[in-house]
Amino acid sequence: MPRSGILSLFSTPDPRKAYDDEEEDSDSSQNGSEQMKGAVHSHLEESIRPFIDLIDTLRSVGIQKDLALPTIAVIGDQSSGKSSVLEALSGVALPRGSGIVTRCPLELRLKKVTAGVKWKAVLSYRIKIIEFVDSAFVAGPIKASKLANEKVADPTYDVKRFEFGDPSLVEEHVAAAQNELAGRGVGICDELITLEVMSPDVCDLTLIDLPGIARVPVKGQPQDIGNQIKNLIMKFIEKQETINLVVVPCNLDIATTEALKMAQEVDPDGRRTVAILTKPDLIDKGTEKNILAIVHNKVIPLRKGYTMVKCRGQQQIDENIPLEEATQIERDFFQNHDHFRDLLNEDKATIKCLAVKLTQNLVDHIKKSLPQLNQQIKKKLWDVKNELKEYETGPPKDLKGAKQFLIETLKRFNDQINSLSSGEQMSEENLFVQLRAEYKKWNDHLNSTKTSFSHSKEMSQKNRGRELVGFSNYKLFESVLQKHVATLKKPAIELLYIIKDIITTHLTGVVSECFRNYSVLQSTAKDKINNIQLTQQEKTEKRILEQFELENMVYTQDPIYLKFLTDITNEKFSEDQLPFFDKNCKYSKMLESYYEIVVQRMADQLPMMISFFMLKQTAELLSTDMLSLLDGAEVRELLFEDSDVSIRRKDLRERLDRLSAAQEEISTFSTD
Ligand code: GDP
Ligand code: MG
Repeated sequence: MPRSGILSLFSTPDPRKAYDDEEEDSDSSQNGSEQMKGAVHSHLEESIRPFIDLIDTLRSVGIQKDLALPTIAVIGDQSSGKSSVLEALSGVALPRGSGIVTRCPLELRLKKVTAGVKWKAVLSYRIKIIEFVDSAFVAGPIKASKLANEKVADPTYDVKRFEFGDPSLVEEHVAAAQNELAGRGVGICDELITLEVMSPDVCDLTLIDLPGIARVPVKGQPQDIGNQIKNLIMKFIEKQETINLVVVPCNLDIATTEALKMAQEVDPDGRRTVAILTKPDLIDKGTEKNILAIVHNKVIPLRKGYTMVKCRGQQQIDENIPLEEATQIERDFFQNHDHFRDLLNEDKATIKCLAVKLTQNLVDHIKKSLPQLNQQIKKKLWDVKNELKEYETGPPKDLKGAKQFLIETLKRFNDQINSLSSGEQMSEENLFVQLRAEYKKWNDHLNSTKTSFSHSKEMSQKNRGRELVGFSNYKLFESVLQKHVATLKKPAIELLYIIKDIITTHLTGVVSECFRNYSVLQSTAKDKINNIQLTQQEKTEKRILEQFELENMVYTQDPIYLKFLTDITNEKFSEDQLPFFDKNCKYSKMLESYYEIVVQRMADQLPMMISFFMLKQTAELLSTDMLSLLDGAEVRELLFEDSDVSIRRKDLRERLDRLSAAQEEISTFSTD
């Protein structure tokens, strides 16, 4: 069914009016119709197109994958009239019918070209570019985007060109594109289809058409189709950078339409929501007042206000009423309408008026977003460059180069391990800070085990042998001490395990960092660490137990013992005045004094032992062990890169390209 939609919608007068920087609330402009009729100065034209072009170019670079771009998203319940509005705006016949027709986001770029030329449309998705050119099309002074030209020249793109004068054929190809992306039938997908329409009869505008909100699944649709569609819509409208264009039919209860509810959810203050009321010719008589209240922002207030439009009804479509005639019919409709007539003067009715408002809103929005966009691109670019550095240096292809690469990688690893073990690394998770904390706990524990010994069972008089009161034997003294010291064994071994875990974590941290891209090297190093740690742990455990055996001997230099005894009893003892049999000097005091010495020895000895074997020796052994990898030299195997590394690198490079291109666009834009 050909719809001769050659669009003369906006031929005269040019619909654009002065862009007003401060004017956000288009609702308040009462004198707009005058502005609309007024001639548009060429410098104003120039002030609109470049902004929209810039964003279009950024989008074709794919930058929306990295950050949100200012855009207009069209949402509405099914059959609310979205396609009709877009069709009227663009003059291009879009797929239409019942059920979900828009199944992928469709980016509609409208570009006004100098009057006198015919139209051209370019449909692009994935690597396909399909051009529809009117044979009489003469390229006007539009800046064909650099990127689009590159794509057309790029042999990886599949470029088709049709020459004919009927825009309605575009519809078929959009449908075919959707079939290709979302599968035949009724599914949806979030891949973008772009349709660029250049014509003297369109306004300068880019908007994204989204699938209509479905209430009940139709045959063959997944049960959760409603949610799928809502999620897709959400992705667009929740972004602060999106102007939400909500299409609601006048003949329904507006407040309950799902689309408006969703827009309210993401934009409760109505700052970035624009509403279009469709089908004013289908309302019930008597409801006009209510509808006017809505248009006048009295029911659900929206900063950017409401516009009422009347598109072609099904009958007019069936009768092949051309779009330009429909525009006249629309105007007549409002002029002859008893209630809605005033909306024309208030700038709140007709497609034409809508187009002007949208362009204004969009450009306003873009201008506001630009500085931030620029910042974001700079920051992302910096991040990507930095991250890429980690991925950039892959091993050289030739064996000799690869071996050299391996040597350097291992050397770098060893340096890191050495600085870890010598405590040169300064960071918040510094290994030595953690170790010191554990050693302090050990020290605290030792201190907590100090006791007066006077209540100890062995020392009680009940355990007396044949000795007189006040006498005690040295064997008893020894055995009390030995038993008490033995209780330290368990916590000592526990300390060893804790320290081992901490050190292992740090060592494997260095492994992951240094061998990030090489899983074989990683697992080899981790195996080595485990083996070495295991041997070292056994060794340390043995040494700790030996230390406990040494402690069983009960020994210290006399002067040291006497010093502690003096401290504890507050009496002065020296070697020629030994406390032998001194009745003031209780055995328990003597025990306490000696235990102080044990505590001091243990507090230093164990940490030194553990650190020496578990860290220092381990690090040395690991370094030598890693270097020995060079002897066997399964270089290729060791430097094997995981596929996700190459995927990540490719991804980062693509992002880098996109962001660089975007930055270039923005910087040339601002210096233009
Ligand atoms: P979509 O599902 O939101 O894209 O809705 P469509 O644009 O396909 O419109 C649904 C039906 O409503 C179609 O039959 C249109 O012709 C009809 N329609 C859209 N706008 C108007 C209007 O302003 N007046 C009348 N009478 N019918 C309209
Ligand atoms: Mg539709």
